[in-house]
Amino acid sequence: MVKVYDPSEFQAESFDSARSDASIVGEQVFIVVLPSRGRHGYPAKMRCRPLKVKDIKSLIEDPFEDETEYVRRLAKVVQGTILDAGINVLEMTMADFKKLLLAHRVNSLGSDIEIAYSCSCRDEMQVVRFDLMNLEEKEIAAEYEEPVRIGSLELRFPRLWGYLPEGKRSFDEVTDFDVLKSVVIGKEVEDLDLKEAKAAIEFVRKWEGSYGVQSEIEVPCKFCKKNVKVAIPYFSFFLKW
Ligand SMILES: [Zn+2]
Repeated sequence: MVKVYDPSEFQAESFDSARSDASIVGEQVFIVVLPSRGRHGYPAKMRCRPLKVKDIKSLIEDPFEDETEYVRRLAKVVQGTILDAGINVLEMTMADFKKLLLAHRVNSLGSDIEIAYSCSCRDEMQVVRFDLMNLEEKEIAAEYEEPVRIGSLELRFPRLWGYLPEGKRSFDEVTDFDVLKSVVIGKEVEDLDLKEAKAAIEFVRKWEGSYGVQSEIEVPCKFCKKNVKVAIPYFSFFLKW
């Protein structure tokens, strides 16, 4: 595990170094280094511009009525800040997407965040202040290379769009077969035999979550003093000021 931020990662550069895009000259840019380190066919580093009010306005309305639709909107917001051509946020992995969200949060609102949680011992919300700079990040395994061949299958890491199927309103409704659509190359998931489907699901289980920024922290309950696992609210980073 390494610390999420190498200070050099967040050095803002002036836009003079990005003269190719005349419309953004004079704005600040920051560079995000992705934990997948370029292993999924898109670059390891990308340049982003900071978020503006107009970007996040679309997130304020009905944020959680339809969870997957909300995250699709969030992906669109992030997409609009990427200054490098040819990058599609929906084709990124979830771990890289979360890193982009974290970079934007830290860059635009700072790293201090209030996280709400509850413990099973009592039906009461508790809050803890947390510095997002303390999250740890794990890089993708050095031996990982895509596509991965398993028997007759060619597989790749699940992509963000695989978790956001049309017609599903929450992540709880998303199935392995939805996710596999973004994993299996050159074949329809519906046409896999069960042995192949099993191998593909096992591949996802093995690698999903193997790298990226920490997704939960442990904080003590103020009543029973036991540690409670609390998820980092990546998807609401721009709603919690
Ligand atoms: Zn407790």
